Amino acid sequence: MKPLHSHSILTSPPTLLFLTLLLMLLSPQVSNADPGDVYSADGTKSDTPKEWAIALHGGAGYVSPDMPEARRVAYEEALQEALAIGSEILEEGGSSLDAVEATVRFLEDHELFNAGKGAVFTAEGRNELDAAIMDGHTMQAGAVTGVTTVKNPVTLARRVMTDSRHVFFSGDGAEAFADGTDVERVDPSYFYTESRFEALRRVQEAERDSSPGDDSDEKGGSGAEVEPGAEPGAEPDASHDSQESSNESIRGWKYGTVGAVAKDREGRLASATSTGGMTNKRFGRVGDVPIIGSGTYANKDVAVSATGWGEKIMLHVSAHTLASHYRFTGASLQESMDYLVDEVLEPGDAGFIAVDRTGAVSMKTNTGSMFRAAADSEGLREVAIW
Ligand code: ASP
Repeated sequence: MKPLHSHSILTSPPTLLFLTLLLMLLSPQVSNADPGDVYSADGTKSDTPKEWAIALHGGAGYVSPDMPEARRVAYEEALQEALAIGSEILEEGGSSLDAVEATVRFLEDHELFNAGKGAVFTAEGRNELDAAIMDGHTMQAGAVTGVTTVKNPVTLARRVMTDSRHVFFSGDGAEAFADGTDVERVDPSYFYTESRFEALRRVQEAERDSSPGDDSDEKGGSGAEVEPGAEPGAEPDASHDSQESSNESIRGWKYGTVGAVAKDREGRLASATSTGGMTNKRFGRVGDVPIIGSGTYANKDVAVSATGWGEKIMLHVSAHTLASHYRFTGASLQESMDYLVDEVLEPGDAGFIAVDRTGAVSMKTNTGSMFRAAADSEGLREVAIW
């Protein structure tokens, strides 16, 4: 074996001078990184692309660090389990699409998260679910909004992508499309959970209190008590929106939503997101999640999934904004994430997870907390809330 520090032509002074000049010539003149460079989650340059990588979220919001220990553990265990599902698929050479779908399905089935079972309630006491999935390799996507009988909306979204010539189905049309597939259906009462129904009551009470004397309050409360599963549009009357006065109360609500992004061994990127939306949302309200480019996006550079205040996320076409920043400025994934979260959105609006074509991951929120987890082929394993 050759000694490590043997003198060779490579270390002779003329060669060193030549190599130094060559390096200077090849170095980028501006601080922007070459998009082909590899960065780790903290924005520092790393040497090796990751064979595979995955990140997931279970919603951004304002969870108190003083939350009961048992509840924190329950969240962490669920995130860990979700991470294991996606990681195993990727480790065994499965596709990023399969990984994000399976991860999101698990989170949809888990009561702790606002998607599928555990979804939040509309102002009328119903559960109307949104989901989307996107394959960054083929630039195909599928999305559904306002579904009420599909156990795993992310799987229906995938069917829209693969089995239809359309991208986005809503309400009755989405249900009718589901009829022609093998996706599992449930009675709408399946989505009922006491804690989410209580949350609806609390939000509606708080809003009644904040607008005393106004019995057609701005977010949908008429003063009438809602029952789970009431007819859409029946009660309460939600015809007097006053966006300004409700901004602060919306920021104070706990957001939710689940999502996953992944890069597989073939280098393909995918993103999936699923949600019940926002507590007390009005009948027919569509959030950012199923709007391709807002809450969900993937191309050959990056895959992104959002959570937070849907109206803000969609107004900034957020997931696509991150992707464009990454592509057109040559910034690292983390720099593009910082731009979106710190400069485009306002504090308290939203959180995002993203993975790029090198397998770098980034997870960041400007709310107080975001349930999140990430793993990669090089041994990264992270589960965090704050
Ligand atoms: N972004 C979701 C929506 O607005 C909600 C959330 O992430 O909490 O529908």
